[in-house]
Amino acid sequence: MSNVTPMMKQYLSIKENYQDAFLFFRLGDFYELFYDDAVEAAKLLEITLTARDKTSKVPMAGVPHHSATRYIEKLINLGHKVAICEQMEDPKLVKGMVQREVVRVITPGTLIDDFGIEQDKSNYILSLYVNKDTYEVVYGDISTGDMYQFKTQDIDTLYTQLSRINAREIVTTNDGETVLKNMFTDPPLITVVEHSEENAHTQLLSYIETQNKQKLTHLKDIVEINVDLHLKLSQSTISNLELVENLQTKKQKGSLYWYLNQTETPMGRRKLKRLIESPLIDVNEIKNRQDVVQVLLDNFIEREDIKAALNNVYDIERLTGRMSFGNIDVKGFVELRDSLEGLPDVYRLLSSIGLIDNVLFKDFDVLSDVYSMLKVLKSDAPKTIREGNIFESGVSEKLDELRDLQHNSREWLENYLETEKERTNIKNMKIGFNKVFGYFLEISKGQAATFNAENFGYDRRQTLTNSERYITPELKEMEDKILKAEDESVILEYEMFVELRDSVKLHTARLQRTSEQLSILDCLISFADVSNTHQLVRPTFTDGELEIIDGRHPIVEKMLGERTYVPNDVVMDNDTFIYLITGPNMSGKSTYMRQVAMITIMAQIGMNVPASSCKIPVFDAIFTRIGASDDLSSGKSTFMIEMMEANDALKHATKNSLIIFDELGRGTSTYDGMALAEAMLKYIHNHIGAKTLFSTHYHELTNLDASLHHLMNVHVKASEKNGKLEFQHKVEKGAVEKSYGIQVAELADLPREVTIEARKVLKRLEEANYDKKEDVTQLELSLEEDTETFSVVEEKIKALNVNYMSPIEALTLLSELQDELK
Ligand code: ADP
Repeated sequence: MSNVTPMMKQYLSIKENYQDAFLFFRLGDFYELFYDDAVEAAKLLEITLTARDKTSKVPMAGVPHHSATRYIEKLINLGHKVAICEQMEDPKLVKGMVQREVVRVITPGTLIDDFGIEQDKSNYILSLYVNKDTYEVVYGDISTGDMYQFKTQDIDTLYTQLSRINAREIVTTNDGETVLKNMFTDPPLITVVEHSEENAHTQLLSYIETQNKQKLTHLKDIVEINVDLHLKLSQSTISNLELVENLQTKKQKGSLYWYLNQTETPMGRRKLKRLIESPLIDVNEIKNRQDVVQVLLDNFIEREDIKAALNNVYDIERLTGRMSFGNIDVKGFVELRDSLEGLPDVYRLLSSIGLIDNVLFKDFDVLSDVYSMLKVLKSDAPKTIREGNIFESGVSEKLDELRDLQHNSREWLENYLETEKERTNIKNMKIGFNKVFGYFLEISKGQAATFNAENFGYDRRQTLTNSERYITPELKEMEDKILKAEDESVILEYEMFVELRDSVKLHTARLQRTSEQLSILDCLISFADVSNTHQLVRPTFTDGELEIIDGRHPIVEKMLGERTYVPNDVVMDNDTFIYLITGPNMSGKSTYMRQVAMITIMAQIGMNVPASSCKIPVFDAIFTRIGASDDLSSGKSTFMIEMMEANDALKHATKNSLIIFDELGRGTSTYDGMALAEAMLKYIHNHIGAKTLFSTHYHELTNLDASLHHLMNVHVKASEKNGKLEFQHKVEKGAVEKSYGIQVAELADLPREVTIEARKVLKRLEEANYDKKEDVTQLELSLEEDTETFSVVEEKIKALNVNYMSPIEALTLLSELQDELK
């Protein structure tokens, strides 16, 4: 450190405290980065890497201060932190070194600005606190102030919830970090803090406040997430069913969100995503949403009028967040005001259709007082708050006076120019202003050659190629007056703005509440619109019976068009709750199964469903094993993922769950796959009782209906016409006789030679297998339930090494074995 300059010393001592962030060090009009920060940032931001001075060769890279946001955003989106270090004194006014301080650390999870966050997405930061054997989690979106928490002792639940929340940043202690690193191959930005806070909440707040260097006043009360109060959907189910984005394209198009989204506001869009990802299980809550949707459906005109009002509403939730944080600009405030303008209309419309007393809109606050406070802002005000021209006239006498002075001076300048033209007899003289030289009188070069400036009291200010610019004592005097008035009014308006911001800030909680009610209203209107467009029906809820008549897959139908889509039924009850679905590839098995899941989710978010009638129980969870979601980046094989997802279902499903297994066992050899599929079906049949849709291409499994009485074979119809395969997409009772694999291949235009050969091979295989078939079924049936369990216990006992067991371990194992036998 001894041979570095004083400034670099200052830099190094500040950097010391911000090791994990890029330090943006303010030097005049630039933010400079040094050493490793510079090298790394130069790569990431594609900016030039130089050296501070020739001798020391300290790497340096910089970005202009006025365009820094763009670069900060890029680093944040790459998952980094940025520490902003400002000059705390005016360099012109101090001798020697300017004092510098980090004023804020910007991180992906603490963003509150109008950059770096996607409008339609929540931006969560999460704190994981490990308290003995309990995982405490608090998470929130700082930009909106939403805060949630839950606790669990179950690591699977923790995993499901964390992947659903998908936080951009996690704060935790050492032990929490270990948990996370074991859980995720590619975890988000993790900051490890000392184990000094009492709980997850204080841990999170203290982190956020240290980063932002101020207290946040807009954070809402924490909402307790009871993981048992919502339909359970794992992250893989959410993605398999394409609830919020298409599996392949990762775009919204083709997702349930895309289908349902007719919302008008950004809060509405974020809310809709949350509704889809956490359907309800309280039947009264569901029915209440259904009732509201029905009222909105019945009142088309009012619905349209509310939509029109919502169309003028900006992102009140995030604007409110920025306001409390103190970084809302004038434009943001004008947007807030314009958003509030239509609220009395919304109130009136809700009253007229009888919804104003509904729990969802109770005490709907139109915030007239806040609106009046904001009325003083000019609509064409500049974005920044340091340019003046923010307030309407008539708001402040002082401001009006200052503005009059400026206005009158303009007239004065015009008159002055006229008198000077007369006096000097230079008719094309001009008057102007520039930032460096101030006001001037301008004369062309030609005129200036013969002009005796001194005689007229003119003083030269600036020489251009074609003209000369002068100042006079009178003009100078006026200039001082004007500039002073301008300065004064800018300062005055700035102060007025801060005052206004502080007084509106007192209404933060009210703004947030109204915003929340508008967002749910926005979603339910969207539901009504979509119901209307696609002719959906209101489902009724049962104690267990499932009866969907003429059900359709909403998205496939929307893509194909209503006329081509073939509707199908599902009828299940306590007697029949497993459908074993066969049918050729491409016949529609997967679509049929997904359609049941879609209808379930739509029903449980209070939405109408695509069917001609629908009776449905309130499910507690949906488990899926559907191909193609293979997480290659995680390094796990397709088969491993299949088994993990199947395991999740078998472990956690109840009688009230819905299980969807699409061609389970594909990831391994035929016999393994078949054996596993059969064993799982038996397990669900005998122990779980969940409503299950199970598609398979193992025809051997269709014999199971003889021994499993709650299982029914259905197949998706396809037929051969003139040797060509035709899909009817109709689901019918019974098993399919043929797999039509080769015919499907023919449809894909495989060379004739290949398909002809394949037909021959198939014939040979079928003949060879014919005699053995009887034996296989025989064998299956002779495998008794009890012997199976028995052998597991046997295996476990055989595998023991008694010499290495403590008495406690032995006892525990004994009790486990007993449980197994029971
Ligand atoms: P499988 O799972 O049997 O291979 P899919 O469910 O993937 O078949 O369906 C294949 C295609 O058939 C779908 O992409 C869709 O275009 C069409 N399809 C499926 N079900 C229907 C239906 N009920 N009505 C009309 N077309 C359908």
